[in-house]
Amino acid sequence: MEQRLRRLLPNGQFAGVPTQHTARMRAIKSTGNRSTEKRARAILIRAGVRGWQMQPAGLVGKPDFLFAAAKVVLFIDGCYWHGCGQCSHAFRKNRRYWNAKIAGNSERDRRNDASLRRAGYRVLRVWEHELSAGCDGKWLIRLKRWLTTRLASAIPT
Ligand SMILES: [Zn+2]
Repeated sequence: MEQRLRRLLPNGQFAGVPTQHTARMRAIKSTGNRSTEKRARAILIRAGVRGWQMQPAGLVGKPDFLFAAAKVVLFIDGCYWHGCGQCSHAFRKNRRYWNAKIAGNSERDRRNDASLRRAGYRVLRVWEHELSAGCDGKWLIRLKRWLTTRLASAIPT
């Protein structure tokens, strides 16, 4: 993804780019999302996690996965677009854009999370890099724990 960005934005500057470029940026964003979603999906299947749907409609912030019965939503956040502190060193070439746009993105993420929580959802955000092989998968352990406790408490007595 980074290479593609560099090719499209040789000066590393995004400010004032024509609308068609912005549209292309958006296209890249959603393509990136799709591949990380696929990876997350494979991990869930392998782990035997059930009861989810991808890209549920009508939820604020467009979560990548919804666990409807447990009221848990899962976001897979691209390290670039959502401003991952651990991977940000890789993005230095686009720092000017990064500062403005990414800060806006993560602020919007926080607002969306708050709104989802008010609606009764638990919100789990996972960095794209946490899906890589060799990553410890803490998010998956947390997700399973949330699903177990929330489903248990949802059973009518
Ligand atoms: Zn990262």
